Amino acid sequence: VKKPAAPITKEELGRATWTFLHTLAAQMSILSRMYPCKECADHFKEVLRANPVMAGSHDEFSQWLCHVHNVVNRSLRKPIFRCERVDARWGKLDCELHACDLEGTATKH
Ligand code: FAD
Repeated sequence: VKKPAAPITKEELGRATWTFLHTLAAQMSILSRMYPCKECADHFKEVLRANPVMAGSHDEFSQWLCHVHNVVNRSLRKPIFRCERVDARWGKLDCELHACDLEGTATKH
């Protein structure tokens, strides 16, 4: 078991960031370009150069992000994700009555 104060690993940072980015894309917002792992950021700059951001619509942005995540997956020899499943995987947050979804149906009191 890891000590709570241990430095975060590249894997932990990546997993948390992809979760943030996909949730953000699924809920229609902007994509941050700051990334605190230099090796990853340098590689991702190349990925972005070859795959310019497409954010004409919610769906286009989600599909673009899925595609660039797959480019990174391929370079790390990780499984390729089926992008038609991106909304099922990332479209909702796990909170009561969808109260924490930006486009949720619940009314806050
Ligand atoms: P992750 O890749 O973190 O994915 C998390 C979850 O997202 C998966 O469990 C799956 O459910 C889902 N998912 C997977 N693929 C997709 C997809 N295409 N679309 C939608 N959902 C998907 N690591 C390096 O070692 N070198 C690098 O150069 C590097 N560059 C990175 C660049 C960026 C911008 C980011 C955010 C991360 C980078 N990482 C890099 C980290 C790496 O991509 C992984 O996040 C890390 O290795 C943990 O992998 P994981 O197997 O937990 O799944």
